[in-house]
Amino acid sequence: MQGKVYLIGAGPGDPELLTLKAARVLGECDILLVDDLVNRAVLAHARPDARLIEVGKRGGCVSTPQAFITRLMLRHARQGKIVGRLKGGDPFIFGRGGEEIEALRQAGVSHEVINGITAGLAAATAAGIPLTHRDCCRGVTLLTGHTQDGGEPDWAGYARLDTTLVIYMGMRHLDSMVQGLLQAGKAGHTPAAVIAHATLPQEQRLSTTLARLADDAHRHGMASPAIVVIGEVAGLALPQTVVSMLAA
Ligand code: SAH
Repeated sequence: MQGKVYLIGAGPGDPELLTLKAARVLGECDILLVDDLVNRAVLAHARPDARLIEVGKRGGCVSTPQAFITRLMLRHARQGKIVGRLKGGDPFIFGRGGEEIEALRQAGVSHEVINGITAGLAAATAAGIPLTHRDCCRGVTLLTGHTQDGGEPDWAGYARLDTTLVIYMGMRHLDSMVQGLLQAGKAGHTPAAVIAHATLPQEQRLSTTLARLADDAHRHGMASPAIVVIGEVAGLALPQTVVSMLAA
């Protein structure tokens, strides 16, 4: 009999932010393929005899090729195993979940996706930032700081949006991001925040402005994994969450 693959969102870091469904399904898996941003504490819900395979692929690090991960999932599911593919945050937000379910659909392997709390939402909440606020923005845009082909994202297009920008994987591109948004007319005094290791004990938060974002983040050693929030709502970060408020 064929098995099944679960794409499971492990949440942003704090193991208590795992959903009840994810915890239950984790306890059913024979094999777990685990990404490196997943807090290993969530494995407390796994069966003690479950086989664990680490398949990290952080930007810039040596990583397990996507094709290999997909082959592993398919092979074990075809052998009748229940496979858990554990991903940081939500599997469908910059998690390559889309590519993996395409392969599973093509192969006719039964599968299910279980939501996790994505880092962008959790990081903003950790900093006391409501991502929408009817006084100052019309929505939220989740975007990545780099494109697949290494080209520049359309910063001018993003600058025109009347939404809060929530940027994933942006730390290596802060300078060009800031330049691009400023050149497109986004005001330098627009509030901005950086939240690294959100919801974990080593969480770091920085409140600043768009004009100072890159300098302040470098000066304070803010590093990946981090979320950048740009927009009026970033000015609502709770005072006690502010580690650096340098003059704009
Ligand atoms: N699927 C994940 C995102 C994977 S992309 C999700 O839904 O959250 C990896 C990026 O997510 C990192 O470069 C960083 O921008 C962000 N990220 C993941 N965990 C984070 C954390 N605990 N704190 C801040 N940013 C985080």
